Amino acid sequence: MVLPAAPFAPQPTGLERLLAEVINPGLCVACGACLGLCPHLIFLDGQVAAPDPCGLTSGRCWDLCPVAQRGGPGAAQGPIGPVLGAWQGRATARDLEGRAQYGGVVSELLALALEQALVQEAVVTAAGPRGAPQGLRVSGRSGVLGAAGSIYAGGGALGELNRALAEDACHPLAVVGLPCQIQALGAMRAHPDYPQTLERIHLVIGLFCTMNLPWRGVRDLLARHGVQAPLSRADFPPPPAGIFQVWSGGAYHELPLDQVRAISYPGCAGCADLTSEGADLSVGACEGKPGWNTILARTHAGAGLLELAAGKGLLELEPAQPASLEHLNQAAIAKRKRAAAWSEERRHG
Ligand SMILES: Cc1cc2nc3c(=O)[nH]c(=O)nc-3n(C[C@H](O)[C@H](O)[C@H](O)COP(=O)(O)OP(=O)(O)OC[C@H]3O[C@@H](n4cnc5c(N)ncnc54)[C@H](O)[C@@H]3O)c2cc1C
Ligand code: SF4
Ligand code: SF4
Repeated sequence: MVLPAAPFAPQPTGLERLLAEVINPGLCVACGACLGLCPHLIFLDGQVAAPDPCGLTSGRCWDLCPVAQRGGPGAAQGPIGPVLGAWQGRATARDLEGRAQYGGVVSELLALALEQALVQEAVVTAAGPRGAPQGLRVSGRSGVLGAAGSIYAGGGALGELNRALAEDACHPLAVVGLPCQIQALGAMRAHPDYPQTLERIHLVIGLFCTMNLPWRGVRDLLARHGVQAPLSRADFPPPPAGIFQVWSGGAYHELPLDQVRAISYPGCAGCADLTSEGADLSVGACEGKPGWNTILARTHAGAGLLELAAGKGLLELEPAQPASLEHLNQAAIAKRKRAAAWSEERRHG
């Protein structure tokens, strides 16, 4: 039997479309989910590039891209996603002091998961030789400590995860990532051509995130202010500070927030997730308590690891303050509204 002609041709779902709809319009947020899968996409100076076409009409590069997949089913939960328990805390270990971004909860939990052999390697983001962030696999406390602290630039770390998953290995992995990276992980776990992700990723720690910056833009902005990369530390203090704080070569500098916002990834404007809703544990700053983290346990695996860390005295934990959770909710609602307005604007040209 000859089938009648299909009423419409299905849209391609490969590199060509990724280029046309995400990369060329400047919407890529450098999560790295499309990297390490094939030779056609590369990460160069903090940006994804495709030096030659691949010719396929479908591919995981499109399927896994969190920017390409926006507009799918929205989160059914509240503004900060599913939460089993909300805490504020900090690590007690002295070796994290001066290295961790805030309370060091992410690094301590990761080090514990590795020490307990819950996972054998963790994919993190760490500074390369000239300060640009890059994905890295670590397998012990010293590697975790080397990646502590926040680099406010896209590092494409999921490319390193793709390389780990392509190896002939079966050991369990942990991943630390931004909300867009956690969304891409969700797509990987659900992808029919990528069954190993479901089997091998045993722990996902998500960070809170409002925006991120392309490394080239950061470097140029720092140069305009006479600051040399690499930075030893950077931070966005809470409103109304309106500054980006950077430390370099022992000196401290403040950059105006509007100049930093101006160089942020355009694709961040359409991002609706503030708190990494699909993670086992999500960690961010703790409002009003410098040097502490807010911690959202979302799954039983995440809550179990947190309990283990607290039981061993590795973390000091308190229930999250209702006022700080309410503030987080409001910030998450604001981010969703911003993303919805951005999508609406794009739909109407
Ligand atoms: C781009 C960016 C934006 C952020 N925005 C917010 C925000 O709006 N509000 C908020 O409360 N918190 C935000 N954070 C999270 C915050 O900076 C801390 O990462 C978090 O509170 C954990 O603190 P910690 O002391 O436990 O982390 P640490 O123990 O110091 O561990 C930090 C971890 O962050 C990872 N990391 C560092 N840089 C990157 C990167 N570029 N991409 C992916 N992972 C990275 C490292 O792998 C490391 O494991 C942001 C982080 C980043 C990187
Ligand atoms: S957002 Fe991530 S998956 Fe999409 S093009 Fe950029 S690096 Fe690739
Ligand atoms: S704002 Fe969203 S898209 Fe941008 S880096 Fe953060 S999580 Fe990724």
